[in-house]
Amino acid sequence: MEKFVTIERAIEITRQTSFQSTVEIIAIQESLGRTLAEDLPSKVDDPAFDNSAMDGWAVRSQDKTRVEIGQTCAGATPAKIGPGEAIRIMTGAPIPEGADAIVMIEDGLQGEARPHFIRRQGENLHAGKVTLHRGQKMTPAAISLAATMGYDKIPVQTKLRVAVISTGDELIQPGKSLKSGEIYESNSYGIAALLEKIGCEPTIQPIVQDSLDGLRKTLDASDCDLIITSGGVSMGERDFVRKLMEEEGQIHFWKVAMRPGGPPLFGSWKGTPLFGLPGNPVSSHLVFQIIVAPWLAPATPLFKRVRVKMLDKVKGAPHKVCFRRIQIVNENGKLTGRTQTHQGSGNIHSMVAHNGLTYLQPNIDADVGDQIDALWFND
Ligand code: AMP
Ligand code: MG
Repeated sequence: MEKFVTIERAIEITRQTSFQSTVEIIAIQESLGRTLAEDLPSKVDDPAFDNSAMDGWAVRSQDKTRVEIGQTCAGATPAKIGPGEAIRIMTGAPIPEGADAIVMIEDGLQGEARPHFIRRQGENLHAGKVTLHRGQKMTPAAISLAATMGYDKIPVQTKLRVAVISTGDELIQPGKSLKSGEIYESNSYGIAALLEKIGCEPTIQPIVQDSLDGLRKTLDASDCDLIITSGGVSMGERDFVRKLMEEEGQIHFWKVAMRPGGPPLFGSWKGTPLFGLPGNPVSSHLVFQIIVAPWLAPATPLFKRVRVKMLDKVKGAPHKVCFRRIQIVNENGKLTGRTQTHQGSGNIHSMVAHNGLTYLQPNIDADVGDQIDALWFND
């Protein structure tokens, strides 16, 4: 077990654990955000036939004058024209045999004949050509393209199934009433939302009391690819996640040189990878963003690295990277950072009231006017 590792080392160690994803076939309308598991060749040419890009007339460009002999719409079978003839045509309708240009409705029947308003068969996509590649993230446009290519279902990678377990005798599910000494359990909701954001499938488990037996039972029953716990990883007598993992699990690292979020733990429980987040709400959220997300979803970064000019003084931390919550504002192309709320690691409001974090190297404070490294959340 490695103790008190840097953030970089923590990510490196987590990356030694990888997950075998399998493939499932799903409806394209269910596929937003999913990762395509195979190359997809188009089933059709797009356009499938030459058609009009405009409402107007299909004409022969060599004709000087024309007479209208009929009309054709999208979905119709191709008509035919001879010398001096024109057919009223709607956008998407097949080009009549003999026609080689479109006159726009705005220009009138004797207007300019424009060949480039014919959309040619296959000018967008060719049947058989791979147009969506394995690994593609399914965006709204990619979903539309899959449909254009003729797919109603597509193969995607299965989502990682993650059990989210919070621990603590003081925790009560929100919506219930609190007795003295109790607080609402909040970490699992934020962590589950973060997991969804990076494409995983979280299941929030019932709150586990501070007992070795209860925790062991819940871990054993978790039936998932990855277990994420919160709370119970510090030095305290009742930090049972750490205790149980020390005694019966396997720990790869414990404690990371970061503040907030110092005591996370990573290892495995009877073959299932387990990440133990700290209990403090800011700490659990932040450790997920800084270590867990880059491990599970390196292609879905939750923030950008930027430089900001500080407009408030912030204190760093001895021997640890310090993540103060800051509001980053773009002022005429220059980014500035301000702190606006109490910075305690128990204050999750600080993560809502700010859109970024300082990335202060160990033992470094920032003064007003200093340029510092920062992380700017994507949303
Ligand atoms: P722990 O790491 O278990 O010592 O918890 C540290 C602090 O975080 C304590 O004040 C706990 O009450 C609080 N905490 C732990 N788990 C949660 C949770 N799931 N939701 C909200 N607060 C929590
Ligand atoms: Mg606790």
